[in-house]
Amino acid sequence: KRIRIGKFVEDLVDTINRESFERRTVKFTMADGDTTVMTDPSLLTHIFRNLILNALKYSEGALDPEVYLHLRGSYFEVTVKDYGLGIPKEEHEQVFGSFYRAKNVGNIKGTGLGLNIVKELTKKLQGEIWFTSSLGIGSEFYVSFPVK
Ligand code: ATP
Ligand code: MG
Repeated sequence: KRIRIGKFVEDLVDTINRESFERRTVKFTMADGDTTVMTDPSLLTHIFRNLILNALKYSEGALDPEVYLHLRGSYFEVTVKDYGLGIPKEEHEQVFGSFYRAKNVGNIKGTGLGLNIVKELTKKLQGEIWFTSSLGIGSEFYVSFPVK
C-alpha cells in the first residue's frame, strides 16, 4: 500500500498520546518534510508502537520521548529517542534476543519479546534497526526502510 509516511507516524504518535494515562506527550518532528512510500502499514504500526511504548515505559519521570522522521533519499529513517533508564553496555548484544530483559528494569513489567518481534518485522520490510543507549541518560532506537 502507498502511504504518506510523515502523516502516518504523526497519526500514530497522536493516538499513543491520546491513550497515555500519565499525561505524557511524545513529540514528533518531520525533519525533512513528508513523502509517500510503498509499505505494509500494519507491520509499520506494530514496529513503531513497540518502540514508542518502550520509550515511554522505560523513561517514567524523565523528559518525554521524541520521535523523528528523516528522509535520506532512497530510504527513510525513524528515530525514537528517550531520556530514560538506558541499557547497560554489557547487555547491548542481547537486546533483540527473545525474553531478554535488562538487569536495570526494576519492577517495570514486560515479557522481553517486543524488540525480538520488531527486529523480525523490520527484516520482513527490508529495513534495518539499531540503537545507541547510555545508562541513566537514555536510548535512541533507529529504524530505516527503503522508499519504494
Ligand atoms: P514486551 O515484550 O512487553 O515489549 P519488554 O519491553 O521487556 O517486554 P522488549 O521491548 O523486547 O521487551 O525490550 C527488551 C528489554 O530491553 C527491556 O526489558 C528493557 O530491559 C530493554 N529496553 C528496551 N527498550 C528500552 C528503552 N527504550 N530504554 C531502556 N531499556 C529498554
Ligand atoms: Mg517492550
